[in-house]
Amino acid sequence: MNYLRLINKENPLGKNYEAKNLVKVKIKTGGNKIIYLEKKTYKQVKKLLKEMNKHFDTEIVIDSGYRSYNYQLNLMRDLIKEKGTKAFKSLAYPGTSEHQSGLAVDIGFYKDDNYVPKFKVDDFLDEFEWLRKNAYKYGFIVRYEKDKESITGYIYEPWHIRYVGRLAQFLYENNLCLEEYYDFFE
Ligand SMILES: [Zn+2]
Repeated sequence: MNYLRLINKENPLGKNYEAKNLVKVKIKTGGNKIIYLEKKTYKQVKKLLKEMNKHFDTEIVIDSGYRSYNYQLNLMRDLIKEKGTKAFKSLAYPGTSEHQSGLAVDIGFYKDDNYVPKFKVDDFLDEFEWLRKNAYKYGFIVRYEKDKESITGYIYEPWHIRYVGRLAQFLYENNLCLEEYYDFFE
């Protein structure tokens, strides 16, 4: 399993990529959705959420994980209907999403037992700040940071974390996104 694989518009997984080692998520999910994740990613995100939930009244859960090519295609079609071409800024084109690898997780929230389906960044500033500072301890990076929008090509998504394993600490401490890592070191 290549946990460092760079997945973006220029480096797509493509239509025929099959995610490996997917397991079904058995802890609470946003809206009780059925979610699958790559095995190690799941193991680590469970640890992360267990720790994170000790710090907040809000309940933090897994909101999205593996998405197939066709699922992403349908999401994109829906979003284009709703937002027009703006959709391309906030959702990965089918074949280019990290979610297709099973290595990406979106976190979601329950506030007073109510599922918060839309990601309202301003309502969870403390939670996202904690995640930014601690995700690396579990092998994750916050993939789409505010100051990296021009490099990643995506708007700030503080809820989207990507499992990369040990490299996470290096990326966090040097404020590098995955694209920069590949530019500088690979
Ligand atoms: Zn995501």
